[in-house]
Amino acid sequence: MSYKFKQKILLMFFGILVMSIFSFSPTFATTFRDVQNHWAKSYIDIASTYNAVSGYTDGSFKPNDNIQRIEFIAIIINSQGTNVRALSKDEYWGQPFIDAAVKSGIISSDEYGAMDESTFAENITREEMASIVVNAYISSEGIIDPVSTEEATSKLSDLETVSPRYYSSAIDAVALDFITGYSNGTFSPKHYATRAQATVLSFKLLVKLGVLSDADLPENIVLSKLKLNQGDLLKITLYHTNNTSVLTLTQDLYPSFKWYETGTEGVLEGYIPTNYSTAPGVYDLTLINNKTGKSSSQSLEIVQRDFRVQNLTIDPNIESSTKTDDAYAQYRKYFNPSRDISSPTKYYTESFLLPTSGKLTTEFGESRIVNNALTTYRHAGIDIAAPRNSDVIATNAGKVMLAIPLIITGNSIVIDHGEGLFSVYFHLDQLFVNEGDIVTRGQLIGAVGSTGFSTGPHLHFTMSYYRFDIEPGYILYGESITKQNYMNLMK
Ligand SMILES: [Zn+2]
Repeated sequence: MSYKFKQKILLMFFGILVMSIFSFSPTFATTFRDVQNHWAKSYIDIASTYNAVSGYTDGSFKPNDNIQRIEFIAIIINSQGTNVRALSKDEYWGQPFIDAAVKSGIISSDEYGAMDESTFAENITREEMASIVVNAYISSEGIIDPVSTEEATSKLSDLETVSPRYYSSAIDAVALDFITGYSNGTFSPKHYATRAQATVLSFKLLVKLGVLSDADLPENIVLSKLKLNQGDLLKITLYHTNNTSVLTLTQDLYPSFKWYETGTEGVLEGYIPTNYSTAPGVYDLTLINNKTGKSSSQSLEIVQRDFRVQNLTIDPNIESSTKTDDAYAQYRKYFNPSRDISSPTKYYTESFLLPTSGKLTTEFGESRIVNNALTTYRHAGIDIAAPRNSDVIATNAGKVMLAIPLIITGNSIVIDHGEGLFSVYFHLDQLFVNEGDIVTRGQLIGAVGSTGFSTGPHLHFTMSYYRFDIEPGYILYGESITKQNYMNLMK
């Protein structure tokens, strides 16, 4: 326990002496420098406004650090507004909280063995946390519905690993929705909890005690990255809202921005695509709630990427026969609209696969000098050279939106993966799917060929957010696919 934190706890303690935590209204003024862009920001802001949690004197909160037993006990004691005696000279700062916790029955005196500083400075486990919060709830005359307890029992798959003394409180904590099991159905009783998770618990306790409601949580906008390379897809997650009609996201990057429901109540997500046409620099994204008048902002930096320049020699006969006005008209007529309609929910749950293996011949975003003439063309995908008739698989689950021969791009496939994300496959020798087919991740959809405007058997593969092409590498590997890293990424 740092001395700084000890001081902070003391300050907080004296604050509680002079005013009851239930009597003043939140100002939402509290901000910690390291919770910006954190999923738990709204919980931390509001819980700290109610003095249920506090940060460190250096202005940080350390949301991802594990939380000590005494820190969690202090949070719950403060959330309840329990009286804590003054600290004696040279006494461990946590001792008054330990005494208050034993007195109010949220911990028992034989629970942790030695009742000293080293015991309470240990990280708290999920089962210990469950016991404390359930005891706090019951001591505040909270009631547990037996039906929900029964349901909770069947929700947990690893109950036998809970320590016998915590068995019933683990079930109660799930029944009361204080602790939601992991997505794999486990309670994981011996896992440690983070300060962010503990804060959510203290907030839920304040809700159960009738002090706060979920509606008090301000919207929280979280960006997948604060620095984005040209070609990457930004994901924006919005917590604590169901009503997008009162929200406006102002930003200069992508005019057609929209929100999608995630299936989790109160959580929405949306995307902003970037590529070589996105100017590097710092952009502000501001979320305005037109009903409450509140707004929150995030800065995003678009980082310049050096794109390659490719020299290409093409047989003038092939070029003149493929790049005609009719060919472009056909491309616009069939290809463009195939990426206009996307499922509002995702077809996929797993990671994305590279559709064929071979040699990377053209990177994303390369500009081209064709037959000694510089073109305005930018390569909107990656080219992978592979023997004719090599397998081409679907990068992920989705719906086939286009599967036809086109003059410029040859046999072409477009797959919608949902929420505006598409994958594109050109120059195929054969097509094994039809428009409207639902394909699975890794399903064989075509064979490598050299149809259309092509100099040899290869797959042109790209991904896009609607019609806006993005670098597939960021979706597949979290980084761009280049000639330098291609072999490593293949491993
Ligand atoms: Zn290509």
